[in-house]
Amino acid sequence: MINRDAVQKLSSKAFLATEQRIPGLGNGILQDILCNAKMHPKRKVNTLSHEDREVLFDSVKSTISVMTARGGRDTEPGLFGRPGGYKTILSKNTVGKPCPACGSTIKKEAYLGGSIYCCEQCQKL
Ligand SMILES: [Zn+2]
Repeated sequence: MINRDAVQKLSSKAFLATEQRIPGLGNGILQDILCNAKMHPKRKVNTLSHEDREVLFDSVKSTISVMTARGGRDTEPGLFGRPGGYKTILSKNTVGKPCPACGSTIKKEAYLGGSIYCCEQCQKL
């Protein structure tokens, strides 16, 4: 049984990438979805306005679409042993590097049994 209030209290990371709410959407792709939406992974769903939710939903669709069109992320080899052509914005490979949007340093943090990567300038809590 899904408790609507409990779902609203989740962080955007937990909302998007747990319970198979969006099957296949995992931690790797999640980072760039939230980066493109300019939302912090710890931002609670119940703090998102209707417009924020539209921005987030658009980012889910556009980020997946671009990633797919470019053959997947450059962080992992694909079925044929080659990395994809999508240049991942936030990953283990970009920690400590400048954010492509604002130049601030990309940070890594442990959260919910995994890692989150974010630009604290672009992605507001
Ligand atoms: Zn930034």
